[in-house]
Amino acid sequence: MRKRQRQTSPFSEVPGDVARSARWVRPDLVVEVEYAELTDQGSIRHGVFQGVREDKEATVVKLEKPEKSSGEAITVLGVRISSPDRVVFPDAGCTKGDVAGYYAQASERMLEHSGDRPVSLLRCPDGRDGDCFFQKHAGKGFPGGIGTVDIKESSGKTEPYMVISEAASFAAAAQMGTIEFHIWGSRTDILEKPDRLVFDLDPDEGLSFSDVKKAAKDVRELLAEIGLESVPMVTGGKGVHVVVPLRRTAEWETVTFFARTVASFMAQRNPDRYVATMSKAKRKGKIFIDWLRNDRGSTAVAPYSIRARKGAPVAVPVTWQELSRLRSANSFDIGKALKRLDKPCPLQSVETKQSISQAVVEALEAQISA
Ligand code: ATP
Ligand code: MN
Repeated sequence: MRKRQRQTSPFSEVPGDVARSARWVRPDLVVEVEYAELTDQGSIRHGVFQGVREDKEATVVKLEKPEKSSGEAITVLGVRISSPDRVVFPDAGCTKGDVAGYYAQASERMLEHSGDRPVSLLRCPDGRDGDCFFQKHAGKGFPGGIGTVDIKESSGKTEPYMVISEAASFAAAAQMGTIEFHIWGSRTDILEKPDRLVFDLDPDEGLSFSDVKKAAKDVRELLAEIGLESVPMVTGGKGVHVVVPLRRTAEWETVTFFARTVASFMAQRNPDRYVATMSKAKRKGKIFIDWLRNDRGSTAVAPYSIRARKGAPVAVPVTWQELSRLRSANSFDIGKALKRLDKPCPLQSVETKQSISQAVVEALEAQISA
């Protein structure tokens, strides 16, 4: 021991009471110490000597950070969910296990809406406060549990898209850090003919939810006048999606053009309140009636998807009557959304016998020229 002794402290700072009784040695021996915790001053509390570590050089030793435990893996719908205790929504105290559990419970209902469609995922592997990314394609090393379908894009390139065709796929997506599911307007069996149309009402900042509700009602009324029933969905964000279930008769081009004509007509009739062009500058104080969701390849958030926004809100289809009483687009949290699964879905109340028929197109033309 004697040859290790030294007169001066090898540390840059030493608390006075420690310095008074300390005997200094050269810091080249490595010992293992188990301890309860570090004090605020960085000293070891309740240290217990475990032995000399001859296998380690003093220079490579660093202070070990306690490993953050995110819990033992769990199994949801047969899918292994790792780190289920990892917090995904710090504000709502909602974990990865909670997200997987929600999707398991909602999976049957979600499958009816989102099954057999190309889907995009919003993934946040480090939780909502970490980096999130929107995934359109099934990449290399893609996990099982989620299907793929090859789709020829407008560029001519064929790419693999993700498809959900069983309940367990939702759990597989949750395991990949997915928070949001976004869907195409058509299903893979008849990809070129959409079975739903969406008007995405986006209020400019400063507008109230009452303004959004009024806009949704206006869209509903115009559609009803030309022979189409619609159902509102609060997005969990700021707006409302007015959804029109369709029989699959018209191809994308027709549906896109129809949606654009409806939105443009709304803006033309009410230029102070509505705008149908993307341009941010023209949206001041208005509601943007986003018809571009109705393009081949575009997506809209899936019914019953959790949103990666404050408080873990859920996108929920409601009845027109319910909408009139709602105070915001994000009033359904996971618990409230789950309670609605006992009742039929408002979005499935519409008989999908309707389509963008010749009669509908003519009725719209008559409105425009009136
Ligand atoms: P809000 O009511 O708050 O507007 P929202 O679901 O309508 O909620 P938007 O920001 O209006 O959200 O997004 C419109 C749509 O654009 C989404 O529903 C989604 O399908 C699509 N989208 C969102 N993020 C991306 C992205 N990074 N890449 C491609 N499409 C996206
Ligand atoms: Mn929107």
